[in-house]
Amino acid sequence: EKRELMKLVNRATVSKDEKVVELGANIGNPMDAEKANENGAEGIGLYRTEFLYMDRKTLPTEEEQFQAYRKVLEIMGKRPVVIRTLDIGGDKELPYMNLPKEMNPFLGYRAIRICLKEKDIFKTQLRALLRASVYGNLKIMYPMISSLEEIREANAMLEEVKRELEKEAINYASDIEVGIMIEIPAAAIISDLLAKEVDFFSIGTNDLVQYTTAVDRMNEKVSYLYNPFNPAVLRLIKLIIDNGHKAGIWVGMCGEAAGDKRLIPILLGMGLDEFSMSAGSILSARNQIQNLSYDKMKQAVDQVLAMNTAEVIEAFIEQYI
Ligand code: PEP
Ligand code: MG
Repeated sequence: EKRELMKLVNRATVSKDEKVVELGANIGNPMDAEKANENGAEGIGLYRTEFLYMDRKTLPTEEEQFQAYRKVLEIMGKRPVVIRTLDIGGDKELPYMNLPKEMNPFLGYRAIRICLKEKDIFKTQLRALLRASVYGNLKIMYPMISSLEEIREANAMLEEVKRELEKEAINYASDIEVGIMIEIPAAAIISDLLAKEVDFFSIGTNDLVQYTTAVDRMNEKVSYLYNPFNPAVLRLIKLIIDNGHKAGIWVGMCGEAAGDKRLIPILLGMGLDEFSMSAGSILSARNQIQNLSYDKMKQAVDQVLAMNTAEVIEAFIEQYI
């Protein structure tokens, strides 16, 4: 069966009725990009840059970051590479930053919130990203966005860094798309407003499920409540995709749900444009989508959204797997 799947390595991802989607890989370092390549990734949908900052004693330098980003961009060539800016805090700690212990780290000082305060850290990363941008098809993505102001502030810093590079006569690509993760319910709810300020959305279901259902994603005791099939979560996902499309931007997903066999039919039917997952899931997802009808899944989504529990939805969706 593995051999059959390998035939799909260089294929586009197209449903039975010709709906084209993109399958990307989630990576944590440049070596993963090679693996993404071997497994038929059409791009990188999420490069988690925090691993560059973890397991060491000091911040990574601009040059170190530049080399890592450049490597990934070169490996992927013309294909899109979505690099997410630093997403620490929550469960990911950086001891050398001496951040104070918090009562609720997942609701605290993390990700874009840190970057907008620790401007030097953020600007160093943005400089490295811009410098690397000339080596491929870079897209920049901000994590944990909860308001319009955060996008504007982050973009203002990006512009500032561009001006600096221009003064130093350092090149960067002129057409870099900038997008945000939608992983906080507030962002999902105002996704119509946010869509006007960015080039793309990527839905982070790992956190979106956690924050929507008030279930700590690390806590075994309440894990039975952590379910992307929760109708509240599915309604939010649909809302995000619709709002993105109304504003004319593309919508992807880089949370675990994007690679889940049981969710792929629903996400296809909702019109998701890009699915980003671990490299090992890509070929089977492509195979699955080839055997699904987008039109039929659109109708299935209408039915799913009228159902009242995760259990009923999960049972219903079995027939499409
Ligand atoms: C997510 O929250 O869905 C996501 C992709 O980001 P992370 O798992 O790194 O928080
Ligand atoms: Mg997240």
